[in-house]
Order: sequence, then C-alpha cells, then structure tokens
Amino acid sequence: MKEISATVAMHSLVQEKKARGETIYHFAAGDPLLDTPSTIIQAVSEAIQHQPILYPPVAGIPDLRASAAAWVNHKYGCQYALEHTLITPGGKFALFAALQHLLQEGDEVLFVSPYWVSYPQIVRLFKAHPVVMLTKAENQWKLTPDLLQKHLTARSKILILNNAGNPTGTLYQKKELIALMEVATRAGLFVISDEVYSELVYDQHCFYSCGALAEQVLVIQSCSKNFAMTGWRVGFAFGPEPLIQAMTALQGHATSGPSIVSQWAALAALSKHDEITDFVRSSMQKRRRFFMDTFNTLFASHLPYPPSTLYAFIPLSIFNTSLNSTEFCNQLLTQHNIACVPGIAFGQEGYIRMAFCEQEERIQEGLLALHKATSC
Ligand code: PLP
Repeated sequence: MKEISATVAMHSLVQEKKARGETIYHFAAGDPLLDTPSTIIQAVSEAIQHQPILYPPVAGIPDLRASAAAWVNHKYGCQYALEHTLITPGGKFALFAALQHLLQEGDEVLFVSPYWVSYPQIVRLFKAHPVVMLTKAENQWKLTPDLLQKHLTARSKILILNNAGNPTGTLYQKKELIALMEVATRAGLFVISDEVYSELVYDQHCFYSCGALAEQVLVIQSCSKNFAMTGWRVGFAFGPEPLIQAMTALQGHATSGPSIVSQWAALAALSKHDEITDFVRSSMQKRRRFFMDTFNTLFASHLPYPPSTLYAFIPLSIFNTSLNSTEFCNQLLTQHNIACVPGIAFGQEGYIRMAFCEQEERIQEGLLALHKATSC
C-alpha cells in the first residue's frame, strides 16, 4: 500500500499550513465540528477516576455492544444481539477487517463511483479487484438493479453499498434498497452496507438500513459522524455471527480494539443517542442550508441541498475553469488557502467535494475567498 488517502493527504497539508500560522478555509475534512457533549465528558471523567484503564475485551465492552445493537434495532428495525456486534477502532477498521476476512485473491468487489476514497485501496490491498459502477448526477448518483446486474461476473463476491453516500449525499429509498438486495441475494453476493452517515439525513428524508432488509449483510456504523465523535475512534460492525467472530479474532491480533476510554465515551453517547444525534443533525442541517444558500447566491448557481451527509459535490463547470479537479484543488490550497477535495479522488473527474462542517462565519469567509479566487 499504496496511495495515501486523498482526504488524509489534504488534511496533512492543511495541518502543515496551520502550523505555519496560516489561516485555512477548511472545506476538506468530514469532521462535524461540534464540542463533545458534556454528558460524555462527565461520564468519561468519572470512569477514568473510578475504573482501571486496562485492555478492553477484544470484541468491545459488553455493555457497549449491547447498547450499540439496541440502538440500530430501535432506530432501523434490525435484530442484532450481542454476538452479532463488534466494537472497532472506527468504521474504517470494521470495513478493513471484514474485507480481509472475506476476500481471496482475484475476487471482485463492486461499488459505485463516486465512491468513498478508501474502498478501492482496501480492496486492492487484499489482492482483490474493485469493480467500479459509474453512476450519474441526473440519476442522483444511484446504483440501480440493472447497473448492478450488468457488472456481475463469476468472480463477483461483495457489494459495498454506501448509504447515505459520501461524497454525493445520495440516499436510497426503501424500495430501491429492497430491489438491490434482491439482485445481490440472487447473485450470491455478500453485502457490506456502510451506514456511517445514517443519522445525518435531512428535511423529510428517511434512512433505511440494509441490516433490516437482507440476511447476508454486514452493517458498518460509527460514532464519528452521527455523534460528531471522529477523534474518539469508535465504530461498530453488525452482521452474521461467524463473520463477527472472524473479525474479532483479526482485531485481537491487529489492534486489540478501541481504547477503553473511547468505549466509555461511546457508551455515554449511546445512552443519550436521540438527544445527541438530533443535536448533530440539526447543527449540520443549519450549516448545510447556510453553505448551499451562500454558495448559490455567490456563484449564481442552483445546486440542490444534498439530502444527507456533510458534503456538497460540486461540478467544476460552475467555476469556469479549464483545470482538472486535482489542479483546481491544488491551486486553491497553495495560492488561496482554501481546502477542498478533488472529485477524481472519489473516481469522478469534473467535480470537487466541499464539506459544510465549519461554523457559519467560517463558511461565509471561506466561500467569499473561493468566489474571489475563482472570479479573477
Ligand atoms: N465510511 C465512509 C463513507 C466515510 O466517509 C468514513 C469516513 O470518512 C468512514 C466510513 C470511516 O469513518 P470512521 O473510521 O471515522 O468511523
């Protein structure tokens, strides 16, 4: 391995510039910038004082596993028990461990483009082949049963479905998911449903979990986005018991699981899940509205509000540039201190991804700087 993740590379350059005292207009990282709620801080402070800080059980502390399963069962109609649940160091490691266990050399893993940057890299790491299914903006960047069917071969092993989707904000309706699960089941595919943005779903839109719709599914969840807890590094995997056992064994050798301190924080977060996820959602919904309204006014555009996640996926045509997405983003960062991620990092040239995670004043300053930088 391979290539450094584009979002991580961008983040590192931003940190270097910040360390030199430069002001950065930050639209790159999907880090919902909110303070950790006081309930979590209090619970962790008390636990640190009164409990020993030792190795956690490899699969995660049982109370947390039970609470995590209860959370997705209650929210999304799943039926997971403790033995279907693994606590991981972020959703990313859940995906990594699952693919490491499931993949053999030459297997094909299907997912759409635009995709989350880590999918092709992790798949290649295990000598399997990414099969990228190109989707279109006019179809809300959605995978359809026909498109999936067209890409099936004798080597097709896994479908990774990212709902709600990074970088496009694509959100699937229940009937669309059922139709996709039918094709996947008929083809004998195992489905990894990456649902780490499930609570960042706005307006009248609803989220449906594949974990409630098919058997051969692993659901990837996380505290990072839904609970605005990226730095705590707690993720969850929910799925068939044999797979969870295999991933647990792997985690035992690879990481021993997330820090017990972070697991206490996650337990406190889950004990107030509705309160916290409502707060994160409403904060991000406000920032999304502010970002999109300001952007559309400045650039005289009519981009729709993304129905979910933390990102706007913006066509370069709006900026009237002849640069490709990498050149455009490099120029913005090096010359104007504006950090965005090139669409090509997600497999889609001609676009950039802008995160609306900052506070409104910072969004305003950043968009004004972007407008100035692109109008000369
Ligand atoms: N899946 C998607 C689609 C993501 O965008 C991310 C993070 O950006 C992750 C998984 C991993 O999140 P974490 O490891 O912070 O839980």
